[in-house]
Amino acid sequence: MRAAVVTAFDRPIEVADRPIPAPGPGQVLVRIETCGLCHTDIHAARGDWPVPPALPFVPGHEGVGRIEMVGPGVDGHRIGERVALAWLGSACGACRYCVSGRETLCEAQRNTGYSVDGAFAEFAVADARYAVPVPDAVSSLDAAPLTCAGVTTYAAVKAARVVPAERVAVFGVGGLGHLAVQYARLVGGEVIAVDVSDEKLRMAAELGADHTVNAARHDPVAAIRALGGADVALVLAVAPAVLGQSFAALNRGGRLVLVALPAGGELVLPVFDTVIKGISVIGSIVGTREDLAEVFRLHALARTTVIARTRRIEDVEQAMQDVLTGTVPARLVFDLRSEGTRTAAAARREPAVR
Ligand code: ZN
Ligand code: ZN
Repeated sequence: MRAAVVTAFDRPIEVADRPIPAPGPGQVLVRIETCGLCHTDIHAARGDWPVPPALPFVPGHEGVGRIEMVGPGVDGHRIGERVALAWLGSACGACRYCVSGRETLCEAQRNTGYSVDGAFAEFAVADARYAVPVPDAVSSLDAAPLTCAGVTTYAAVKAARVVPAERVAVFGVGGLGHLAVQYARLVGGEVIAVDVSDEKLRMAAELGADHTVNAARHDPVAAIRALGGADVALVLAVAPAVLGQSFAALNRGGRLVLVALPAGGELVLPVFDTVIKGISVIGSIVGTREDLAEVFRLHALARTTVIARTRRIEDVEQAMQDVLTGTVPARLVFDLRSEGTRTAAAARREPAVR
């Protein structure tokens, strides 16, 4: 099978021929149709984080495909069923976090495309219990970005406990931000989108942002203050300046929700303001299987729109470069279906999928 493999952190990721993996006990083999490119995949491929993946490995945790084979002891799944393979590849199922609906905090979790091989390949094996069914009404092209960008921002909006008419500032309108804007609106927020790209801000406005601020031309703190200040700031951008700006834009009782993971990022907070203003600082990491099922249901109900462009897996290194230079409007999705299918489908869908 074709697979994008990281063999060294200082070398480009390459597409190689690898044997199709066999599903072990409790696992399913999934024929991958689509997989989105998340910023985390780039961090993984470059070994940016404190515990880098063991080499070689296959990234990709926005995988969507059909079950091709089930291993021994698998129930609840059937061959041909379409499932999503998310960052939470598996968890212990028994610790205090797993049994209290906080499985994304499990210390024994394994992560797709990081500690286990991911979905930048024609096939992937997955723990059957953590493969989330994709409803028929959600296309594989849409399901891929929803599997990380969608569930991550959905869980962040939930973690912020936004109530109607609160002002939500979304810092960074890309793969995550374009969905964050929509979830913040769904719960009744007045949404302020902040980015440095007019093109991305136009997209945010089309998707329902009530206000947009170009931080390259205007001081976002002053602009947000002029609108009445933010009750919630979702930090989806890795630029160091964003942390200070998002904190300064908050009203009393505000919630600062950290989602983006800049390499070596540190947050310095004024204790006095944090205490006097009653500010909450919340770290939010992806979402649970139930969160992802809810994200799919909302999309099936046509409450959200996914903006993505397709790429060939052979162009994975260039795709990563394009994400890093910020030239991608929202999400890039690798389409791993057979070349003939892909070409016919892509001809209809390119350049943008909505
Ligand atoms: Zn991700
Ligand atoms: Zn656990």
